[in-house]
Amino acid sequence: MANKKKIAIITIASTLVVAYIVVIVLFYLRNRKLFMEDLSNYHIKVDDFWKSNTAEKKGINNTTDDKDIILNIKYLIKNTLEPAYNYIPFKITSGYRSPALNTAVGSKTNKSQHLKGEAADITTGSIADNKKIYTYIRENLPFDQLISEYGYKTIHVSLKRNGINRKQTLYTDDLINYKTI
Ligand SMILES: [Zn+2]
Repeated sequence: MANKKKIAIITIASTLVVAYIVVIVLFYLRNRKLFMEDLSNYHIKVDDFWKSNTAEKKGINNTTDDKDIILNIKYLIKNTLEPAYNYIPFKITSGYRSPALNTAVGSKTNKSQHLKGEAADITTGSIADNKKIYTYIRENLPFDQLISEYGYKTIHVSLKRNGINRKQTLYTDDLINYKTI
């Protein structure tokens, strides 16, 4: 009887270990596939995330080779930005923010999703189209936070590759106070 119990415990334990390894391997392969993808047939490029007028003006290097950040950017492009672009084309006004750029733009927080490559500020160039794209993302695409800034002048959209996406729809007129729409 004792032996049977032992065998049962060993069986359960080894099944759990195997399942754990399988999950790790699948997760690794998923990330590797996304990392290797060049997105060359996409309108939105990872390079669009490095551009920043402030960084250029102040001579700040606003690129990174951090694999996690690049994966976050690609995940955001693939799942949210590119499908939104296919609805109405837009420009990214602010993508990735290096810690130095984040300080330079006077950000009050070091928790901005821009620092992790999880967020982009976009504009189509018109308030009316920005409203349309906001509604389109809200109703059709995955996102973590969708924020109308200064009455739809720009739209901040974020997506988390890991963890739960909160699906928050907000507006702000000062980038300090945020209210739910
Ligand atoms: Zn933003």
